[in-house]
Order: sequence, then structure tokens, then C-alpha cells
Amino acid sequence: EKLIEVKNLKKYFNTKKGLLHAVDDVNFYINKGETLGLVGESGCGKSTTGRVLLRLLEATAGEVLFEGNDILKLNSAGMRDMRKQMQIVFQDPFASLNPRLSLSEIIAEPLIVNKVYNNKADMNKKVKELMDTVGLAQRLINTYPHELDGGRRQRIGIARALALNPKFIVQDEPVSALDVSIQAQILNLMADLQDEFGLTYLFISHDLSVVKHVSSRIAVMYLGKIVEMSDYNSMFKDP
Ligand code: ADP
Ligand code: ADP
Repeated sequence: EKLIEVKNLKKYFNTKKGLLHAVDDVNFYINKGETLGLVGESGCGKSTTGRVLLRLLEATAGEVLFEGNDILKLNSAGMRDMRKQMQIVFQDPFASLNPRLSLSEIIAEPLIVNKVYNNKADMNKKVKELMDTVGLAQRLINTYPHELDGGRRQRIGIARALALNPKFIVQDEPVSALDVSIQAQILNLMADLQDEFGLTYLFISHDLSVVKHVSSRIAVMYLGKIVEMSDYNSMFKDP
């Protein structure tokens, strides 16, 4: 059963050198509970694809069906609701996290913005639960992200992404900035969360060896187009 279906998706940028076809007529689907890997060299359009899917960037053309509904057609109120179900985890959580907020404030922010709780005690309980879920010790609750190592910072980003119980997460190079030993911990955490909550992932990385570990199918992108789409076995088995 498909959760996401992308049809003829295009994203063009106006640049000094003319129109850049960053995402150039891309088609793919992602089944519920699966991970689609999206690989390709830097600049091929992976990140732009992920952002357009969540409407962090507006598409030039195409459809993004989420459970059959085209989210590109939603108005801002509809999109506000939809955003709860679709989250993103970035390579560097600090690109998106306010460094003046403590760990608990960062995790609580989406709960506050969306008025999920009208009672502070309930919200604090949820924040503590989310910390447990991603393996952050309770003693860290009042620390600031810059005091923590990269793996713990990424766990904060994941906790925040999980706060509103999403169905779909775009993982945009989530382990690329981490030491190899910590990469494995974070990838294992993502896999555990996927099983526990039935999450669907689009896993973006320039590193095929990472994508191979986590994906059931892999899309290869080149100059804005998907040039190969295959399941792990057919892509890597001997001829
Ligand atoms: P990747 O994630 O595969 O590294 P990106 O999606 O970040 O690739 O970028 C795809 C292409 O679009 C690149 O050539 C990049 O420079 C260009 N691009 C990305 N964002 C913008 C933007 N806001 N304005 C102009 N060009 C952009
Ligand atoms: P990443 O690919 O890791 O997401 P980038 O450094 O490629 O990060 O891009 C950071 C931000 O700058 C993104 O929002 C992207 O859309 C934008 N960007 C990337 N390339 C360009 C470009 N050539 N012109 C303008 N903005 C760009």
C-alpha cells in the first residue's frame, strides 16, 4: 500500500545562468512502513526533492499524493494539518534548531506551536517520553545542544520530528556529519523507531553504503532525474 506517490515532480530555480532544472520530472512511490533510499552526487537534486515533498519549497509542477491526496493543492490550513504527519530530519540539526533553546524547549516547540497540550505537566511528560524514545538520558533535560556531541544532537532532532506522531519522515543526510561509530547508533535508532511506530522514510544520502543498509528500494538521482530505481537485491547481485 502506497503512502506517498510522486508524479512528474519538477522544481526549477531561476539562477544567474538561467533556469536550473533541480528536480526534472521525477516519479516514485513509497509504500507504508518502507524506506526508499535516494542517492546521488552532491547537487543532483536530492535535498530539493525532499523539501518539495514537505512543501518547505514550492514545486514548479507535478503531484505529491499522500494517502491519495495531492498535498501540493492544499491551502495553508490544510497544509498546517498535513505537516504534523510529515517531518524532516536534517544533517545538522543546528541549521534548523534555535541554539538559545534548551533540549527540552527544542523538543517541546512543535507541541507548543500546535497547541497539543493545554497543561504544562502533560507536555513535560510527553517531552520526557520522547527523550526516552530516542535514548536521551533524563539528566540532559536542561542542557543546551552545543554542550552535546553530534549523536545526541541528532537524537534531539529526531525527538522533535517525532513529537507530533508523524507517518512520514524525510531523512536528509541524517548521519553524514557524524563519526562512523555514532552513525551506526543513529541508523539503528531510526530502524527501531520505524518498526515501533510504523514510520515511512525517504532516506537521502550521497553515501550509497549508508543507503544500502537502511533501504528496501533505492532511487539513483543524476542531474535532477531518477536514472535508476531498484530493490537492493537486483541492484547489487552479481550478473
Ligand atoms: P543535493 O541535495 O543532491 O546535493 P540540492 O537539491 O541541494 O542537491 O541541489 C540541486 C541543485 O539545485 C544544485 O545545483 C543546487 O545548487 C541548486 N539549488 C538548490 N537550492 C537552490 C536555490 N534555492 N536557488 C538556486 N539553486 C538552488
Ligand atoms: P544541503 O544540500 O545539505 O541541504 P546546501 O548547502 O546545498 O545544503 O543548501 C543549503 C540551503 O541553500 C538550502 O536551503 C538550499 O535550497 C539553498 N541552496 C543550495 N544551493 C543554492 C544555490 N545555488 N543558490 C541559492 N540557494 C541555494
